Amino acid sequence: MQKLQGIAVSPGVAIGEALVIDNEGFRIPRRFVARDAVPQELTRLDQAIEAAGAEIELNRSAVAHELGDDYGAIFSAHLQMLRDARLRHELEHFVRERHYSPEYAVSRTLRRYAKVFQNLDNSYLAQRAGDIFDIEKKLLRHLLGQRREELSHLDAPVVVLAHNLTPSETAALNREFVLGFATEIGGPGSHTSIVAQGMEIPAVVGVGSFLSDVSGGELVIVDGDQGLIILQPDEETIAHYRYEVEEGRTRAAKLELLRDLPAVTADGIAVELFGNIEFPHEVEHCVERGSHGIGLYRTEFLYLGSEVEPTEEVHYEAYASVVRAMQRRPVVIRTLDLGADKVHEGVELPPNPSLGLRSIRLSLRDLPLFRTQLRAILRASVLGEVRIMFPLVTTLLELRQAKMVLADVMEDLQEQGVPFNPKVPVGMMVEVPAAVLMVDHFAAEVDFLSIGTNDLIQYTLAVDRSNKDVVALYNAADPAVLKLIKQSIDAGRKHSVHVSVCGQMSGSPTYTMLLLGMGLRCFSVVPSALPEIKKVCRALRIEQCERVSAHAMTLENARDVKNYLREELRKVLPDMAAS
Ligand code: PEP
Ligand code: MG
Repeated sequence: MQKLQGIAVSPGVAIGEALVIDNEGFRIPRRFVARDAVPQELTRLDQAIEAAGAEIELNRSAVAHELGDDYGAIFSAHLQMLRDARLRHELEHFVRERHYSPEYAVSRTLRRYAKVFQNLDNSYLAQRAGDIFDIEKKLLRHLLGQRREELSHLDAPVVVLAHNLTPSETAALNREFVLGFATEIGGPGSHTSIVAQGMEIPAVVGVGSFLSDVSGGELVIVDGDQGLIILQPDEETIAHYRYEVEEGRTRAAKLELLRDLPAVTADGIAVELFGNIEFPHEVEHCVERGSHGIGLYRTEFLYLGSEVEPTEEVHYEAYASVVRAMQRRPVVIRTLDLGADKVHEGVELPPNPSLGLRSIRLSLRDLPLFRTQLRAILRASVLGEVRIMFPLVTTLLELRQAKMVLADVMEDLQEQGVPFNPKVPVGMMVEVPAAVLMVDHFAAEVDFLSIGTNDLIQYTLAVDRSNKDVVALYNAADPAVLKLIKQSIDAGRKHSVHVSVCGQMSGSPTYTMLLLGMGLRCFSVVPSALPEIKKVCRALRIEQCERVSAHAMTLENARDVKNYLREELRKVLPDMAAS
């Protein structure tokens, strides 16, 4: 049995057989194929060689076209190596005789070849090892690409173990068969983690390198509460976790009873509890937990889940289904927040993607894309209580530009006689420190503000939300972050503008007292957190929250703030102490 510590990002426990998803550039575990699967595996190998060859041919002609045949010849050498009969023979030998998986055979063989070059006493030739690694990568990408496909063709329960899962890969996981997952990299605020929570799949990320220690098929436990993964657990551990799973079910059933109780504090102050969703089907999770509305619909997943750009109709259908399901309860549709870690498969990220062309910046650069989405949202606005929200607004100019595009789209719809709500409320995310510093100005120009603590923490503390190496620094309880949140809530009150918090922080009971004490009356949380947050709100009095929040704001570091908040919560609800 081996216990590994990672970062707990989506609660719950998963116990099942491992499905290992490798990735290019990382060690391929030694995996064996069954004797009767050899012909099939060899076909897979040949297909990968063919596909890699076609890819190199394409590169060769593109480069030759631009730079001439001499440069194209670099790729001819790659082709020669790839199609070398001896290489093919050696790979076949490993698969047929030793039953290595094609991935393992490719990796082993080509790394041995590369080593021969690396050991030569000639720097030019030693560099040729790079060409061999390149071929290895290409072949693995084609082989592993097929393995990744397995994810969408599952027919038995598995626990997925991967180097990384992108947000869109996570979103495509089959909830019926994927019991949980763990990844080597990733951080607490990554969208992979957020999607896992939305899908209610137990998950642990940022475990560090461990895939070389596992092969598919062995039993594994993912503990999404403690951030642990346990490889080959012993009987006692399995029994302990089976008990935990049962306990979790009992707790969830108890919380369900809260569904129809009002969300009011113990002293009768009403609190709005909204849900965050990424996909229309998640609206059910909100409705069944008595949510008052959708506080954040992350529409970029419409793009990430599709090979082609969604048409206006595709947008409209998605929005209409959510708005109809919410039956006149508010639905905040956030315009595209593409970029940073939310990109299509295979898109190469620029350096510093979080500071790059993402979100509203991208929408303002690509007006046809933006207008298509706005048309669809406006059309859906006649079906219920739609609100439009712009993400990552940093300057007033950006907000004004976005509103101008919206006004222009409204004009078009009017001319075309297409119905929409001309008074649709327009708001923005407050998730960049610059926006907080200017929040009084922003508040005067919007109908609502929603504080996105996930990005606000990242940009305030200069800590990548997706990077496990700085996870200890990514902290909602940091006094600097608290000051910015308070400032935003105060500005909303002063300008009579509705304020919510839609970052992950608002779904953690640790912060409920603090946020209520700061004056927040609307929490937008992952649907699974709705009952728990309601339970906490119902146990608190505002005067008590104000006292706690005022004291928390005097503390100097995140650890003290967190310990203090946990202690205060424990006094009110002892059974929630661990959350
Ligand atoms: C946030 O940044 O807090 C937020 C809610 O947006 P996202 O997590 O999609 O970046
Ligand atoms: Mg954000």
